[in-house]
Amino acid sequence: MSGLHHVTAIAGDPIRNFGFYTRDLGLRFVKKTVNFDDPATYHFYYGDEIGRPGTILTFFPWQGVRPGRRGVGETHQTAFRVPLRSLGYWTQRLQEKGIRYEALEKRFGESVLPFTDPDGLALALVGVPTAGDEPAWSNGDVPAEHAIRGFHGVTLLLDDAKKTAAILADVFGFKETAREGSVIRYKVAGDANGSVVDIYEAKGFLRGHQGGGSVHHIAFRAVDDADQGRMAQKLVDNHGLHPTEQKDRNYFRSVYFREPGGVLFEIATDIPGFAVDEPVETLGRALKLPSLLEPHRSEIESVLPELEGAVS
Ligand code: ZN
Repeated sequence: MSGLHHVTAIAGDPIRNFGFYTRDLGLRFVKKTVNFDDPATYHFYYGDEIGRPGTILTFFPWQGVRPGRRGVGETHQTAFRVPLRSLGYWTQRLQEKGIRYEALEKRFGESVLPFTDPDGLALALVGVPTAGDEPAWSNGDVPAEHAIRGFHGVTLLLDDAKKTAAILADVFGFKETAREGSVIRYKVAGDANGSVVDIYEAKGFLRGHQGGGSVHHIAFRAVDDADQGRMAQKLVDNHGLHPTEQKDRNYFRSVYFREPGGVLFEIATDIPGFAVDEPVETLGRALKLPSLLEPHRSEIESVLPELEGAVS
């Protein structure tokens, strides 16, 4: 399998972020942990019932973070899939919850409902006719029939598509499938979660500034370490890039590189997944720490805000 593994974004207030994604959007909270590089802050993972690759949206919530500025060299929009017939339900739900959304639009023949999260992160729901047949998770608030089925894809806003497109094709197996205005669509085979990357070519725009409401990086799937190693080697051999050494993120193993358009890309393994340190039934309930940080649990817990009425 190929395509997107996860998307990681920056938020402000962790409690507000948690409420929005678990209650308003009805995603499952699949992991509560800390930023391994900054253990006084949370790292939240939302996804489907087990956090399958292609469904995982993660956040670094930094209380009081400066808002980002949208621009070139970053992920412009992150889109989820819902059943096509659920777009009416969602339009009404966003309205009832007071969530900012825009009019339904057509993109590459698909119906797209753009909206933003409380930090201004640009999101969208894309109506996919076959998504209704796929398994769905429900916390009881959003009925399973209307539930989000992982990512549709992301839109990157870049000065020039060419070098980034070459990496998408050569390393990650994407193919250009369509063009519409300044947007080029790339897809991996099949119609699974996270199979779409759109590049919006916008020459001469200001560069983005990362902050609250920005995507920090996007991750692509590798089956295992060997698959990841082959991808990293292609980046070196064919694209003159130098990915980082592998980092153990407990739930997957990662290498990172800055693609030529300016977006931070990651290659993350599908293994071992989120059930590696707690059962599927209770994912997200307990604060999970990597073994290196476990001796500091009480200090860490004392500085993290409590998540009231956690649903998982
Ligand atoms: Zn990541």
